[in-house]
Amino acid sequence: MIDYELTREQKDLQGRMTAFCSAEIAPAAAELDAAATDKVPELLRAQFKKLGGAGYFDLLLNADFVSQCVAGEEVAKAGPGAFLAAMSSGTAFGMALSCFGSQAQKSRYLPGIASGDKIGALAGTEAEAGSDLSGLSTKAERKGDQWILTGSKDLVTNAPVADVFLVLAWTDREAGLEKGLSLFVVEKGAAGLAVGPTVETMGLRGAPTAGITLTGCAVPADALVGEAGGGYALLGRITEWIKISLSAMSVGLGVACMEVSTGHGKGKKAFGKPIGLFEGVGAKLAVMFTLNDLGRMMTLRAAWSTDHQETEAPILTASAKLFTSESVNKIADLAMQVHGGHGYIKGSAVERLYRDARFAELAYGTSEMQRAFIARDSLNRYKPA
Ligand SMILES: Cc1cc2nc3c(=O)[nH]c(=O)nc-3n(C[C@H](O)[C@H](O)[C@H](O)COP(=O)(O)OP(=O)(O)OC[C@H]3O[C@@H](n4cnc5c(N)ncnc54)[C@H](O)[C@@H]3O)c2cc1C
Repeated sequence: MIDYELTREQKDLQGRMTAFCSAEIAPAAAELDAAATDKVPELLRAQFKKLGGAGYFDLLLNADFVSQCVAGEEVAKAGPGAFLAAMSSGTAFGMALSCFGSQAQKSRYLPGIASGDKIGALAGTEAEAGSDLSGLSTKAERKGDQWILTGSKDLVTNAPVADVFLVLAWTDREAGLEKGLSLFVVEKGAAGLAVGPTVETMGLRGAPTAGITLTGCAVPADALVGEAGGGYALLGRITEWIKISLSAMSVGLGVACMEVSTGHGKGKKAFGKPIGLFEGVGAKLAVMFTLNDLGRMMTLRAAWSTDHQETEAPILTASAKLFTSESVNKIADLAMQVHGGHGYIKGSAVERLYRDARFAELAYGTSEMQRAFIARDSLNRYKPA
């Protein structure tokens, strides 16, 4: 028998997070989206303190992935920008250190990440290296008891507010991706580290994004995470976690689209009745629900599979990320259609959700890269009878 029920603890968590997010995260979402870039850091820090107080970062650092998805869906539904910023700090930086960092690194950084007082970021992408990491330029050279980092990263979520970065760099370019890349912890105040101006993004504006430049940036030898040359494998694991998180984010955004669309369907009248009663509108709601519910099942299955270290976990994670990120764009598009021309107005809830939804297909493995991975894995998995 298949049991689709969440555990009692997961249901309690869901209830707590729903109440917390509607009180503390949802009211700030529109303000974070509309705020001038120089106002976002202060607003975001306030959100981080609340998320920390609610135990959300602790959950990202320590809980099983199913529980993380259950809680994450609520955060993303209420505030997608805050979700992405929190994921970048708690999962991409925090969980990476929690799993792969030294005891000294964990003691130094994780208490602040867990409380929301410190903000972390992952700096992997560069102008010439997104999907294809072989195009990376940033390098780290060992000099005495230091590593000297040189290069530039772009599209770093949280960079304008981050206290600490996890930076991907070549330690041995000749050794290639699998043995030549390494991860380093670089603190905000490190000499030679400069954070660029905040990039204006189309959506998820509550998660401020910028590039960073490392100019002969010296960090101590023990800033290396794991072993020299092990960065590619570690980044692969981190990206798996991020893909599960982004799947939960897409599902949360999908629920937000359902909420505003059903509200509009009941409240807006045309031709003498609520528009939701027209077959053309109702059919859209049905498709939205179906896509999102299937996406949630795929997300939870991928999370469960990862929790249980199943060999299928990577392909399930890739297909959940692919399906949910493409679905949420369809869902947001249908939500816009349900709202008619009034949804197209800047500042309307559905307009913000529509912009926020676009991100998931583009980052941490584009849809094309997920398809390529699923195809490769399938070719290896299935044999002729
Ligand atoms: C708002 C935002 C926040 C981000 N935050 C972070 C962050 O915190 N840290 C971080 O490291 N990165 C971050 N990123 C970067 C993100 O992960 C990359 O943008 C993503 O990996 C894609 O890389 P790219 O933009 O260089 O596109 P490219 O890799 O240049 O891809 C461009 C197009 O070519 C396609 N393509 C490329 N190769 C292939 C192929 N082999 N087969 C088929 N199609 C292909 C892609 O699918 C895509 O459609 C962020 C991005 C955004 C938009």
